[in-house]
Amino acid sequence: MSIADRLKEEIAARQEDLVALTQDLIRIPTLNPPGREYRTICDYLDRRLLRSGFHTELIRAEGARGDSDRYPRWNIVARREGKAPGQCVHFNSHIDVVETGHGWTVDPFGGEVKDGKVYGRGACDMKGGLAASIIAAEVFIDLCPDYAGAIEISGTADEESGGFGGVAYLAEKGYFSPERVQHVIIPEPLNKDRICLGHRGVWWAEVETKGEIAHGSMPFLGDCAVRHMGAVLQEMETSLFPALAEKRTEMPVVPEGAKQSTLNINSIHGGEKEQEEDYSGLPSPCVPDRCRMVIDRRFLIEEDIEEVQAEIRAVLERVRDGRPGFDYEITELFRVLPTMTEREAPVVTSVAGAVNEVFGREATYVVSPGTYDQKHIDRIGRLKNCIAYGPGILDLAHKPDEYVGIEDMVQSAQVMALALNDLLGGA
Ligand SMILES: [Zn+2]
Repeated sequence: MSIADRLKEEIAARQEDLVALTQDLIRIPTLNPPGREYRTICDYLDRRLLRSGFHTELIRAEGARGDSDRYPRWNIVARREGKAPGQCVHFNSHIDVVETGHGWTVDPFGGEVKDGKVYGRGACDMKGGLAASIIAAEVFIDLCPDYAGAIEISGTADEESGGFGGVAYLAEKGYFSPERVQHVIIPEPLNKDRICLGHRGVWWAEVETKGEIAHGSMPFLGDCAVRHMGAVLQEMETSLFPALAEKRTEMPVVPEGAKQSTLNINSIHGGEKEQEEDYSGLPSPCVPDRCRMVIDRRFLIEEDIEEVQAEIRAVLERVRDGRPGFDYEITELFRVLPTMTEREAPVVTSVAGAVNEVFGREATYVVSPGTYDQKHIDRIGRLKNCIAYGPGILDLAHKPDEYVGIEDMVQSAQVMALALNDLLGGA
């Protein structure tokens, strides 16, 4: 029997272990915010990976955004050296999950198994992927103990809130540097036969229009910042949104609607603060002297950030031309540049070959509409050989009754093990 067949067979034989591991991970409610039980899950992973011969490190992202004594940002990085020097393959999974929300028909932290699926918050995003990568590594180590190079598995904090106390922190400390790691696979739920090469860019900014406060009965004595913002919105409708819809990317972004530039208005607020729920009085009459809007612009690899910013400034300048007294300010809140790993990159071709071997068909290449931890690996770590590949259906992430299919996990683990064999020359 070929080594590929033996790896596949052994992973299938360990299905029960894979399911139990996924259930255990789901039962640790690592909710973020605020960042609960990070230490608990790191300790659990520590015990498991030590048993499999990994050298482990528990690292607290001290001082990172989100870290506090009450909610410390714990991460685990585990490494297992092979018999000879070689390259390192790193599997990175985030350990945090988002709030459960309403509408569940099962216990979100019960890890219930039903009809070939494991249910729970984080089942697909992404504890199922983490479990699959652990089983893949363990089976590969058992069957190919003479491999060259090293395998790393990390469980990292805060991906759902930007990753500053997780991958960004570790990248700054050198854990994701080309000297230490050569191939990165992030087992996010992208579907078992798809390889995610990267993501679009993000620019968040706050746009503020300025006015002058006055009594609401005599608005002519003031200057209404909300009306100015209304003019901005109108200008966006007339000139900006149609222009964005025209910009199409060559990146294989899914879903189809995200193949163009997009802009969302995340929030808007003008005038007096909203009153507390227990306040039963009336609001007071004032002309709003400022109005603030937060925009969420997602951009394409064909666009650059200066162009994206200039476009918003141009909208505001056009409004200024037509409105006496119009004044504004733009404050950048957050930026991430688009990234896309090349199809010829070794991690891509290895995983593509493994997908072909397991499913008997070509892998599909996709790009994510939103960002994930690849942004830090790319920008801080300077690692270009990185993809997201893992079991689970992306559409189920963050929803009630989230689940991961057991067969999907088994097959993804097979793909991961075959990729390890290809990259580390197991036999
Ligand atoms: Zn995720």
